Amino acid sequence: MRIELRDITMKFDDVTAVDRLNVTINDAELVSLLGPSGCGKSTTLFMLAGLYKPTSGQLFFGEKLVNDIEPEHREIGMVFQNYALYPHMTVLKNIMFPLRMTKVPKKEAEERAIEMAKLVQIDHLLMRKPKQLSGGQQQRVAIARALVKQPKLLLLDEPLSNLDARLRLEMREEIRRIQQEVGITTIFVTHDQEEAMSISDKVLLMKDGKFQQFSPPQQMYDRPVNAFVGKFMGNPPINMIPVNYQPSNQSLHIKDTKNSLQLDKQLAIPNDSEKELLLGVRAEDFFVTDSEDNSITARVELVERIGRDTLLTATVGELKIRALLDPEQTTNSGDAIKLSIRKDRYHLFDAESGQNVA
Ligand code: ATP
Repeated sequence: MRIELRDITMKFDDVTAVDRLNVTINDAELVSLLGPSGCGKSTTLFMLAGLYKPTSGQLFFGEKLVNDIEPEHREIGMVFQNYALYPHMTVLKNIMFPLRMTKVPKKEAEERAIEMAKLVQIDHLLMRKPKQLSGGQQQRVAIARALVKQPKLLLLDEPLSNLDARLRLEMREEIRRIQQEVGITTIFVTHDQEEAMSISDKVLLMKDGKFQQFSPPQQMYDRPVNAFVGKFMGNPPINMIPVNYQPSNQSLHIKDTKNSLQLDKQLAIPNDSEKELLLGVRAEDFFVTDSEDNSITARVELVERIGRDTLLTATVGELKIRALLDPEQTTNSGDAIKLSIRKDRYHLFDAESGQNVA
């Protein structure tokens, strides 16, 4: 089912939790709602669920305006952070519960619940109670229960946050598999950018209730529309280097240093303005060079080997930057090195507005 949010706003007294959100989610897409704490993710999810009514704006499920439709008539399945399973019921009864509530005959309810249990691979645990299950297994029961009525929209509110690191990885792959098998439009709330990157067709990134960017994850990583998006996506975080743009020779002068870089992109700013910009470079887009040309002089502070990668922390003037080295390159703390940027692999943000200008 296609979901459309048109100018959706939610106010709680003087707090605008969601501010004029416009987004269309296509049928069968998995979209992550991502952003820092308090940005409005849960509020958006609750409006989709019908638990909150938007202060203004329109919410469409397919062609239907649903602002005034009660949660139980929205054909949604929901999985919460704490799973909210019924402790006194068996796994089978937990999964059957939504069907029994709508008076589906017991035999049919049982058959459909067993089918769901097979889909989420817990059909060998049907007679157990929730407390006899691991966190990942409980999660699977919650998903089966959310899907048993064949909803048109699945809402997941930080479903992996109670699991340990290894299980989180396993369960996010499982959620993706199940979602694709069922082909259900799914909205997944998370504050973990790596989780959002790995699981989604598209990511919706918000900040202070406001829309930032809605794109496939790789595009959000490669083409952030502003400095906030650039910083939020990726680990280690993107380096943000304050520079002055010098229109006379199309170069970037790194503030408080002697370093200058030649620009090989067209800027979306007036050509003659000596603007202050932020040069955004991801750690993997720096490389060590011998060339004086178009390189930045840096001093190595720390060299960390993390698995296959070597992560360098260096200073450029007063500024700390991080670079990922190619495996064959070696350097030691205290060394003076020159760093270049891979062709086209940088962004320029307006230092004031944060907008991406190149
Ligand atoms: P988190 O990741 O911490 O769960 P979130 O992105 O889900 O955060 P929301 O819970 O949607 O954020 O909250 C958005 C803003 O709205 C916050 O400033 C929050 O304090 C406020 N807010 C949320 N619910 C209410 C409420 N019922 N009454 C008043 N303010 C609220």
